Amino acid sequence: MTNQFETLFREIFHKNGLDAYINEKTIRLFSDLTDRMIETNRVMNITALTTPEKIIPLHYADCALIAGRIPENARVADVGCGGGFPTLPLAILRPDLTITAIDSTEKKVRYVAETANILGLSVRSCAGRAEELAGQPDFREKFDLVVSRAVARQNILNELCLPLVKVGGQLLTMKGAGGEEEYQEAMNSVHLLGGGETRLYSYTLYLSDGEEKRTVITVKKETPTEAKYPRPFGKIKKNPL
Ligand code: SAH
Repeated sequence: MTNQFETLFREIFHKNGLDAYINEKTIRLFSDLTDRMIETNRVMNITALTTPEKIIPLHYADCALIAGRIPENARVADVGCGGGFPTLPLAILRPDLTITAIDSTEKKVRYVAETANILGLSVRSCAGRAEELAGQPDFREKFDLVVSRAVARQNILNELCLPLVKVGGQLLTMKGAGGEEEYQEAMNSVHLLGGGETRLYSYTLYLSDGEEKRTVITVKKETPTEAKYPRPFGKIKKNPL
């Protein structure tokens, strides 16, 4: 499948203005990742997308579109990494980053760690819930950037993730077309959690055939988060800030 994969990869990354990331090494790594994902998917639910035609735009280009927004050498946490998004694409495209993949499901974290290992990527991993890890000194306010894709609505994500962000760092969440509404809804929680300047970016993700709207929300961390946050998940969900 390699040649066909390469053609598709080049086409979709080019369409999305991601030419800087097209080279032999990234093509090989993404091709190997695709093989492993499709193979593992037979025995474990890693992704709903099962063909390179879907995987390249909706997983790889989608994640590559945020790669340029991350400061050099940043310490990054991916909250709710699931099958490795955005962790694995970021590890391929930005080897300067130190990435910790976090998920509450242990077998997903194990899959991501093993996959990174097989591909020769440097990724740290941790099985646990973000709101519980936030109570540990190794995690609380220790990351320059926390990313999260497809985990929860923004007001909930702010409480799960902002406690992990260093003062001066930022939270970056990857959203679909609904990001604008979530952005409005989450403004109240930003200030309660030590967040400051919050921005919404809208752009288009080009697929092999068609396009979709994407949004990214960034929240700067301005002051330390009060110790009473994050609350236990039941409370966060029942009574979001
Ligand atoms: N980011 C991946 C997976 C999204 S699915 C992607 O975009 O494809 C959401 C994932 O978040 C699941 O794997 C789930 O186990 C994890 N998750 C949900 N709540 C969490 C929490 N509070 N802390 C850590 N992981 C969480």
